[in-house]
Amino acid sequence: MLNIILFGPPGAGKGTQSQFLIEKYQLIHISTGDVLRAEMNAGTELGLKAKAFMEQGVLVPDEVVIGMIDAKLKESSNAQGVIFDGFPRTIPQAQALDALLESKGQPIRGVLGLEVNEIELVKRVLERGKTSGRADDQNEELVQKRVSEYNTKTKAVADYYAAKGKYHSVNGIGEIENIKKDLFEIMNKI
Ligand code: AMP
Repeated sequence: MLNIILFGPPGAGKGTQSQFLIEKYQLIHISTGDVLRAEMNAGTELGLKAKAFMEQGVLVPDEVVIGMIDAKLKESSNAQGVIFDGFPRTIPQAQALDALLESKGQPIRGVLGLEVNEIELVKRVLERGKTSGRADDQNEELVQKRVSEYNTKTKAVADYYAAKGKYHSVNGIGEIENIKKDLFEIMNKI
């Protein structure tokens, strides 16, 4: 199984680049943001639990997200591999994911981290907000909050995987095609 994490702050290009990776490597895409939004729109118990956090631009509690990943992985046990997008976002999430995958003998092969500066991130997310229909993409304060959540809670996950020799950084600024090429090069090495 080719299990990878596409890592980076909001607006780094994870959604866009995921699509290229899924197609080329036949991976299943698990985006916790997408799953949470679907649960919220369907009005499920999980969605209701997540709603207030998402509307404030802060992370949903670890136990909610970890339980959700467990269920999603059970659904995708026949896949060639999984691309995790927007997960893990905290050290406990990373530890839970590693424990889960290692118990199956299918550990994370690599973490591909898209690096983009903060000014560009905020600009991109607000631009996306014009068409994404996401309330959290349309309000500058909320976008800033999400970036600050990344800085305080998520960034450390890069160091966690770097210490395991699994973190690969990619410049997320420039032509989409060039970024895609850089990501494919890493994929072919891991
Ligand atoms: P995203 O679509 O990845 O930008 O996520 C949108 C929102 O969903 C975030 O601002 C969080 O409130 C929540 N969320 C998504 N993934 C996670 C996660 N792995 N851990 C905690 N909260 C998450």
